[in-house]
Amino acid sequence: MTDRYAVFGHPIAHSKSPLIHAAFARQTGQDLSYEAILAPLDGFAASIAAFAAAGGRGANVTVPFKEEAFRLADRLSPRAERAGAVNTLKFEPDGVLGDNTDGAGLVADLTRNLKRMIAGRRILLLGAGGAARGVIGPLLDEQPTTLVIANRTVGRAQDLAELFDHGIRACGFDALDSPFDLVVNATAASLAGELPPLSPQLFTPDTLAYDMMYGRDTPFLAFARAQGAATADGLGMLVEQAAEAFHLWRGTRPDTAPVIASLR
Ligand code: NDP
Repeated sequence: MTDRYAVFGHPIAHSKSPLIHAAFARQTGQDLSYEAILAPLDGFAASIAAFAAAGGRGANVTVPFKEEAFRLADRLSPRAERAGAVNTLKFEPDGVLGDNTDGAGLVADLTRNLKRMIAGRRILLLGAGGAARGVIGPLLDEQPTTLVIANRTVGRAQDLAELFDHGIRACGFDALDSPFDLVVNATAASLAGELPPLSPQLFTPDTLAYDMMYGRDTPFLAFARAQGAATADGLGMLVEQAAEAFHLWRGTRPDTAPVIASLR
C-alpha cells in the first residue's frame, strides 16, 4: 500500500509542499502520496488523529498549528523542544514524534545553496513569531559573532532572547543603525506587502538580505537591493525544510537543487 503523508494548515490551498514531496518521491523512487489538508481552526488534533487512523505515516504542519503540534506530540526531537514548535510529525508504533526542520532548512539554504558563512558573522533576525523562534537555535549552532532579534513588539523579542539565553540582543527596529552580514526577515510584513521601518545603514554590498516569504519580490528585498545588498527569498528554505522532513520519514535525503530550480 502507498504510504500517505500530508501537510495540515489553515489556509492550505497555496501550499507547494505536495509538489515538492512528489518531486522528492519520484527522484528517490519512494512509493508515497502527499496531500494538502485544510484542518478546521478548532479541529487540528482531530484531523491529525483521523489521518493517522486512516494509515497516515507522517505530516507537515504549517500556520497556525505549529504550537499545537508541539503539544500534541508524544516525543520531541531536541530541535523541536528548543523551538517550542513542531512542523513535522512522524507516526510511530509507540506514539507521535514531533520535529522542527525550519531552522535546518534555513541554514542549509544559506550555507549550501547561497554559499554564505554564518560562523563569525553578524546576523540580524527580524520578527519574533513562530518562524523566528524555529530558526534561532540552528543559527546559534553555526556560531555567529552577533545575533540580534528585532521586532515591532519589543517585548516579544526580549522574551525570545531570554529563552535562548545566549547573549542575544533584543530591540525594536528603530534601535538598529549599523551594518549586518545577514539580515533575515522572519516577520509577516511581506505577506501584507509592507516594509518594517528599517535603517538603510543595515545593508552594505556585502550584506545578504533574506526574506522567508517566497514567490514574489517583497518591499524588504527591494529596499535591501536599493542599498546594494544581495537578496534571496525563502523558496530554498521551504524546499530544504521539506528535504529534512523527507529524510526523517524515509531515511533518504533527496537532491534539493533540481526541485528548487523547477519551482523557480
Ligand atoms: P507569526 O504570525 O508567528 O509572526 C509574525 C511576526 O511578524 C511577528 O514578529 C510580528 O510582529 C511581525 N509582523 C507582522 N506584521 C508586521 C508588520 N506589518 N511590520 C512589522 N512586523 C510585522 O508568523 P510566522 O513567524 O509563522 O511567519 C512569518 C513569515 O515567515 C511568513 O511570511 C511566513 O510565510 C514565512 N515563513 C516561511 C517559511 C519558509 O520555509 N520559507 C517557513 C515559515 C515561515 P509582532 O510581534 O509585533 O506582532
